[in-house]
Amino acid sequence: MSALDGLYQELILDHSKRPIGKGELQAAAESLTASHHEFNPSCGDEIDLSIAVDPETGRIEQLAWEGQGCSISMASASILSQLVRDETLTIEDARERVGAFREMIQSRGEGEPDEELLGDAVALQGVSKYVMRVKCAMLGWVALEADLAQVEAQRA
Ligand code: ZN
Repeated sequence: MSALDGLYQELILDHSKRPIGKGELQAAAESLTASHHEFNPSCGDEIDLSIAVDPETGRIEQLAWEGQGCSISMASASILSQLVRDETLTIEDARERVGAFREMIQSRGEGEPDEELLGDAVALQGVSKYVMRVKCAMLGWVALEADLAQVEAQRA
């Protein structure tokens, strides 16, 4: 194991122990909100992930989730929450991040992930070598994608 792998494992462990974004959504009255339940039957992971979006700017103001599952699924949801919160992403930005994450996680260990887009989520690149764990890592991201579609339908 390289020093970098060790660092990444520590980061994943840290996020699974002290998850970011876990809790209830605190949305402003005028916000558009969406919530999605996602289940991964191959591992038993589940998540309810909610977002609140400013109807004017299309920016994600809040993201919160509840869930249970393996450390990869929980750490991945936590890292996703941090990414969305730190950068107050628009719906379009968030879509792009989800796409970049999916590409990385389905790469089977090949290719270079875009760290500028993915931030700490690049720590999960190693998961792409384990086909069985891909759905674990994708759990929160798939839920976010469903929320984004719900909000877009409300804005249309
Ligand atoms: Zn799992």
